[in-house]
Amino acid sequence: MLLQQALQKKFKYDNFKSDLQARATAAINDRKNDVYVCMPTGAGKSLCFQLPAALKENSVALVISPLLALVKNQVDFLNTKGIKANALNSKTSSKEKSAMMKDISKSMYKLKTISYFVIDEAHCLSQWGHDFRPTYRKLNILRLKCPEVPIIALTATAAKEIVQDIFSSLTMKNPLIFSAPVFRENLFYDVWFVDAITNPLDHLVTYIIEALSSFDDTKMPSNGKNCGIIYCRKKEATEFIAEKLSASGIPTLAYHAGLKSSSRTEIQDKWTSGLVPVIAATCSFGMGVDKGSVRSE
Ligand code: ADP
Ligand code: MG
Repeated sequence: MLLQQALQKKFKYDNFKSDLQARATAAINDRKNDVYVCMPTGAGKSLCFQLPAALKENSVALVISPLLALVKNQVDFLNTKGIKANALNSKTSSKEKSAMMKDISKSMYKLKTISYFVIDEAHCLSQWGHDFRPTYRKLNILRLKCPEVPIIALTATAAKEIVQDIFSSLTMKNPLIFSAPVFRENLFYDVWFVDAITNPLDHLVTYIIEALSSFDDTKMPSNGKNCGIIYCRKKEATEFIAEKLSASGIPTLAYHAGLKSSSRTEIQDKWTSGLVPVIAATCSFGMGVDKGSVRSE
């Protein structure tokens, strides 16, 4: 079956988002090489492995992802497309966990039913970058245990040292590389010095009101409406900003690593669905967030 037809049938998308997405998907589908994909956030990296994985009948692809929210996003998305996907993480019961692990390490490999090892947000294994996850360094075990299974690494972070780190740490063999420039033309940078503003909070409120209503979105579904994230250095600041903005009439929630994971999921859901337009967050929020109105497309 042609990949494009499969794309329409399984995902109901008319076409690939880009030529690069199409070529990366085809290379992964071939299963002849390890593959490295570097595209900006929102470019559709997941589809590059999801479509080939969905086409390998009776096989399971193992996807490693650094955040519970990202795992949930992918599992929910695939299930809505009728593709079977399951999560294995700290929320999975130990009984389910050991059953899945047994499957993966014994019968699945022996029966050649592991189609791919996918390392999403692969920059997490590099100390050079942000979001370093020490446990990602141990993923070379996948190659050691199952040398024939192709390794697919994906990230939006393209720094040279990080790419080399990804290849060597995962012991990838002559990976095929699909890389797009990460420069984003739609991004706009502006700097204001807090000390130079008489009332920084009023300034922020005015800015947000302007940004949130920069076009008429009354007919938009709530999840497509304007929204924003305010990044703060400390969790106390996220709470302070959230409280002050909410009091000024802009519903805002604080998000930081000190919150229970269930509260974090709930806050992210409220923002993604458009119920709450603004989140004041530490840098623990954002990686891999998939929300249509936060994109250039
Ligand atoms: P990335 O991992 O590169 O940040 P995602 O895989 O999260 O991007 O995809 C971003 C969005 O693009 C998702 O909502 C996804 O469903 C959508 N998408 C991916 N491929 C296509 C396609 N071929 N046509 C339409 N939408 C697509
Ligand atoms: Mg992604």
